[in-house]
Amino acid sequence: MTSDGKGVRAMRWWQGLMMAGAAMVATGEVAAKDLLISNVTLIDGTGAAPLPGASVLVSGDRIALIAPGTIQAPAGAMKIDGTGKYLLPGLIDSHIHLVGGRMPKEGGGTYVDKPLAIRTLQGFLNAGVTSVYDSGNNADFIFEMRADERAGKFPSPRIFAAGAVITAPGGYGDSVFGLTVSDVKTDRAKLQAQFDRKPDLQKILFDELGNYGTATAPVFSEETFAGIIKMANSNGIPTTVHAASESESAESIDAGIDGFAHPVRSVITDGFAKRVAAKRIPVSTTMAVFYHIATIADHPEFLETPLFKASVDPAELQKQRTTERQRYINSGMAAQFKIQNPYSAKTIKKLFDNGVILTAGTDRTWGASLHMELDLLAKAGIPLLPLTRIATLNGAIYLHKEKDLGSIERGKLADLLLLNADPTKDVAAYGAIAAVFKNGEPIEIKPLDTMTAK
Ligand SMILES: [Zn+2]
Repeated sequence: MTSDGKGVRAMRWWQGLMMAGAAMVATGEVAAKDLLISNVTLIDGTGAAPLPGASVLVSGDRIALIAPGTIQAPAGAMKIDGTGKYLLPGLIDSHIHLVGGRMPKEGGGTYVDKPLAIRTLQGFLNAGVTSVYDSGNNADFIFEMRADERAGKFPSPRIFAAGAVITAPGGYGDSVFGLTVSDVKTDRAKLQAQFDRKPDLQKILFDELGNYGTATAPVFSEETFAGIIKMANSNGIPTTVHAASESESAESIDAGIDGFAHPVRSVITDGFAKRVAAKRIPVSTTMAVFYHIATIADHPEFLETPLFKASVDPAELQKQRTTERQRYINSGMAAQFKIQNPYSAKTIKKLFDNGVILTAGTDRTWGASLHMELDLLAKAGIPLLPLTRIATLNGAIYLHKEKDLGSIERGKLADLLLLNADPTKDVAAYGAIAAVFKNGEPIEIKPLDTMTAK
């Protein structure tokens, strides 16, 4: 990606930053393949203590060298003075549903709005999020977005996706993105067709509650549940489950699940937390979704913060202020979640205290929501140093991509976030974004309203 227009654009952006007074020096007329960030405080994503005065050398798309002191810059390297700055891996949101795949049409039906999805993906980058896991969507839409992202067709965080979610006939999620399975034998061809699309992590629904306030929903038999997981695994695909109660979550462990797409939706026993920890099954935290819905009724002003403006499409933001806010209030969801949120916080803290691998996930579709999630996790009592790992490496572990992503370690892909403030001192520092890199290349931070105009 050096000789095409993309590299040239990246250089222009760098030059702009330099003119804006940032202490950066770029050499050469084409985009450099080496990048040296020096004298920076390194927060590597593993949960290790910050390392001040460090240098990180990126060669091509990977981290080539990390030193506690200085590194000699290779000829032609792009150099960044990290004095006063903090270098982290790019943030990972381990639970989103990308907007645009299933837009409601007036008078019924849905349509795909790809430009909206592309703006929203830019919004994630604007918020420092360099990887997302789409936990269920219109499969055609999200797999196309994933292919386009991998082909570099537009600026985007890395997209990992489930596509269709697997549920029992008539079960939770059946009517939305569901692929229904009554038993593995009967539905083998259907399952194989889904696995052939290479979901990065297969999401399975196992929730007898049904949707809020609706009738109890059917779930798989134990045998079917285990059979689906076995078939996914034999296709090289790990699995994650949406389960609501402790008993459903325990049954999911018995069935062989690799991850939890949510924590249990009420208080949990220590015994359960210990079991999840011992099995090393990661849990996506997803506090932001309920907090967003609960808070929009009384305090919708959070929508006006710079991060929301930088990461939510203007028309979608207006919907949140108006029709969506009304919907959340009228449906009773806002009131219900307001009661529930303190219990979720307790459950998360108990999981953390028992050593469970937590990964920050929002169940939303905006970069700003991940910052809300991190704030909620801090408020739930998670110390800020382990939170740096929950925001980064643990997401990669959840996605089974930790060999390449999630931490600043030699040989890994250079998805980086440079901050102007210390996130181990103040959780708000995640919003003090100086620069974002994906594959070792600087990402242009673009206001979304300029993208909407055309
Ligand atoms: Zn979800």
